[in-house]
Amino acid sequence: MVAARGSAIRARFAPSPTGHLHIGSARTALFNWLLARHEGGKMLLRVEDTDAERSTREFVDLIFSTLEWLGLDYDGEPVFQSRNAERHIEAVQQLVAFGHAYCCDCTREEVDGRAAARGGPPGYDGHCRDRDVQPGPNTVVRFRTPDEGMTVVHDIIRGDVSFPNETLEDFVIVRSTGAPMFLVANAVDDLDMGITHILRGEDLLSSTPKALLLRTALGSPGDDLAFAHLPLIVNQQGKKFSKRDGAVAVDDYRSRGYLPDAFVNYLATLGWGAPDGVELRPTSEIVELFDVASISKSPAQFDLKKLRNFNGDYIRRLPLDEYKALTRPYLDDVFDAMAPLLQERVKALTEGPAMIDFLFTDDGELAFDDKSWTKVMVNGKDLAVAMLDIAIDGFETLAPWTAEAVNDVVIGYADDHEIPRGKAQAPVRVAITGRSVGPPLWEAIELLGRERTLARLRRVRERIS
Ligand code: GLU
Ligand code: ZN
Repeated sequence: MVAARGSAIRARFAPSPTGHLHIGSARTALFNWLLARHEGGKMLLRVEDTDAERSTREFVDLIFSTLEWLGLDYDGEPVFQSRNAERHIEAVQQLVAFGHAYCCDCTREEVDGRAAARGGPPGYDGHCRDRDVQPGPNTVVRFRTPDEGMTVVHDIIRGDVSFPNETLEDFVIVRSTGAPMFLVANAVDDLDMGITHILRGEDLLSSTPKALLLRTALGSPGDDLAFAHLPLIVNQQGKKFSKRDGAVAVDDYRSRGYLPDAFVNYLATLGWGAPDGVELRPTSEIVELFDVASISKSPAQFDLKKLRNFNGDYIRRLPLDEYKALTRPYLDDVFDAMAPLLQERVKALTEGPAMIDFLFTDDGELAFDDKSWTKVMVNGKDLAVAMLDIAIDGFETLAPWTAEAVNDVVIGYADDHEIPRGKAQAPVRVAITGRSVGPPLWEAIELLGRERTLARLRRVRERIS
């Protein structure tokens, strides 16, 4: 059998609900979806929730809502891997019965000790292959890998990637707890769901030969599944894109005012490009033009500036009414939070908005009132340096992020060092609001959030040193 085509294609997205959906996973979901929709095949969703300790219902719901926000729909009901546990065990029993797997009672120390004595690479040496170990409380089940030959992954993007079988140790497929390993659940479910195409991250390529061996041993012809391992998403330095480089969770972009269509359009450029080189284009066109074979092998660089440009472009194309409707909640959120405090202070209704303008300013664009700046940052420079350092230091790890806790950092220090409270908070106030007078500072800081608060404090701290 040859890899399926057209409407016979069955792709899937198989996230583990152990955290927020990251950019890389969203790109994986998108590319599988594009393949399925381009071909008129099926897009399935499987929640890989066998890690009971790390999987939560909350993360499952978050995955569903993030996919919905992105507009990535799927066919049929989602499959929950944990509900197939019996089937996974049955598959293992079948493997053992046919001699593809066996019990092993070696301890970690024994395995490592023999590897060290051998002087070869670490790993399991097949010690129990023919020992006929009976299942017991401390036994695992291992898959018997072939001694010779190659396992070849036919990757649509990378071509044939060969793994010499002698480098594949007899890997564990059932833990001593009796729980089948992820690899088994994953391979069995892909077989049972009739998956024909797996597009997933490059980081999983090294486990693919094991998946193929499992499939073949379970009776699949072995050539009925096509793989495409998607290039890594990297930062400007070419290293794996991580939290340190910026927000990795898709819902962060959602809450920061990115439009789903713009986000999807940008994700589509991470490793793929249309033949005409046009990057900015509606999803419907991307679906039409998408081709797995033209996905790049090279790492895809995440470029926030470019994402912002895409987003700006999409925003400008919105009908004005829609733009207003989409922006209004951001205005309302800030005003709702500050209203009780403003009501205590204003003498005319127009004064409220003017008092909270700084909350809407871009952190790098905040303007400073001249008089306030001179008084606090120039004439009071030593205290300003000290207080900004205290605030930056204290806020970096502050938990929970509440007005009270924020207040404690600054006022606690002031009291301990007998600095008048007003003087101590002035540098923080000017750095955050641009002025020495305004609404209650701590509530404003809570609302601004840690990241934006720190950005403002650091900007001023750098400027005055
Ligand atoms: N659940 C795996 C993950 O989140 C995906 C495995 C696969 O796509 O085969 O990394
Ligand atoms: Zn053993």
